[in-house]
Order: sequence, then structure tokens, then C-alpha cells
Amino acid sequence: MHNHFNENHQLERVEIHVTNHCNLNCLACAHFSNISQEYNIKIEDFEKDISTLVKKVNYKILNILGGEPLLHPNIDILCEKAREICPDKIITLNTNGILLPNMKKSFWQSLKKNNILIRLSIYPYTIKQGRKLIELIIKNDIKIYGLWDGRKFYLRKSKYYQDNIENIWENCDAKICNQIYKGKLYICPTSAYGLLYNKYFNKNFYFEDGIDIYNHSSSEIYDFLFKASKNCATCSSNGRLINWQLSKFNVDEWDV
Ligand code: SF4
Ligand code: SF4
Repeated sequence: MHNHFNENHQLERVEIHVTNHCNLNCLACAHFSNISQEYNIKIEDFEKDISTLVKKVNYKILNILGGEPLLHPNIDILCEKAREICPDKIITLNTNGILLPNMKKSFWQSLKKNNILIRLSIYPYTIKQGRKLIELIIKNDIKIYGLWDGRKFYLRKSKYYQDNIENIWENCDAKICNQIYKGKLYICPTSAYGLLYNKYFNKNFYFEDGIDIYNHSSSEIYDFLFKASKNCATCSSNGRLINWQLSKFNVDEWDV
């Protein structure tokens, strides 16, 4: 049940990492998944976070992703739970598709039964299989919500902290990619997963800057999401596109 405040605020989408790690290794991964240790969300934590989220925040789309979400051993159950908790939302599953041909029947059945739509990212690494993957999804009677063209990647990390973070935030299109991660909401992937970068490279560059959804009201959560994060100081106002390539795990790969 949404309160009045919620009716006037709708987030475009909230994304939830069910894994942090990935089976692809893209240079400048915006979720820092190529440098993440293995992490699979526990089913009960997934349920708890989504149930609290749905009571406090009004959003249109729940996007299940990672890392690579198909690496989660219980992805079929997570899809089932997501639909139980969010009967009226659009629910999408964002995958690079590599594991789709290996998925069990129970996975496809869960997607179909729970009306989960697939967002397929196609990178140069997988482009040859692209058509087959799309055919496989259609054959299993699953709708495709969108195809994401992974030929280009956007670099946004600044080498040094920037001033004028309100301006950087205002002009940033990632500010609507809100993330729920371990009980907290974050404005964007940079803010949510920057700590994975800190850990891997032994730095203190990114800040912890999420809002605990259990201990804050709806209006406090919206106030937090509709203004710049401390992490906006880590982003350049002159981001640029590069061609997709494999990472060599260098610390400067994310830099504009
Ligand atoms: S496939 Fe996606 S999550 Fe995985 S490394 Fe590439 S950009 Fe990151
Ligand atoms: S930290 Fe701020 S500027 Fe950087 S991607 Fe997130 S919302 Fe955009």
C-alpha cells in the first residue's frame, strides 16, 4: 500500500544485484563486477529487502541483475519471490546471455509463470551468438524487454575529486539507475559498488553513501535519492565512450 507521498514520486526502476561477480570481464564495468569476489544474495535477504522496498518506495520496474544473475544457483526461486512480493511491477532480468543455453527447465518455467522479461546485453564477445540467444528466449515463450548494445562503454570516473557535484549529478543519466544493495538504496551503480573498486585496488576513492531503507521513512528516502551523492565528486563532467574490450585489471581502466 503506497502512501500519498509515494503517489507523487515514482522511480523509473530499482535494480538489485543477486550476484556481484560475472562470467565476462569487460573493461570499465560500471558495476565493478569484473573485479568483484563471488557474492550470491541469500534468498531471505532478497525477500526482506524487496518487501521493505515495495512498502516504502514507488517504482515502475524491478530489474534483477548482477554481475551476471544467471550465476546465482537459485535464480528461478528469486524470480518467483520477486513476483510474489511485487505482483504489479514490471520485472526484468538483465543478462549477458552466455549461460542461457545451459539453463534448466525450471528457470524457463519460472520466467514464464512469473512474467519476468529479459533484457539482453550483447557485447562483441557474444555478438555471434546473439541471434541464437534471441531465438532461444522466444522459443521458451519469454518476452524480451530490450536489447542493450554493448559495443561501447561509457567512462565516467574522474582521477580526482570534482567540485560542483550538484551540476554533475544534474547532468548524469545514471541517477535514475537506483540500486538496492544489502538493505540500502543507492543513487546509482557507481555509488553502490564503488567500494568493490576500493577493496580490489586497496584505495579509499569511493564513499559509502547509501540510505538504510529499514530505518528511514519514505520521504527521507526520496530526499536522499533526489539529490547528489557524495560519490558524484568521483565522476567527471566529461565522460566519454570507448569501444568494448576485455579488462586487464588495471586501476586506471575506469578513468575518463
Ligand atoms: S557483462 Fe556486464 S556485469 Fe559482466 S563484466 Fe561486463 S559489463 Fe560488467
Ligand atoms: S555518482 Fe553521481 S554523477 Fe556519478 S554516476 Fe552516480 S549519480 Fe551520476
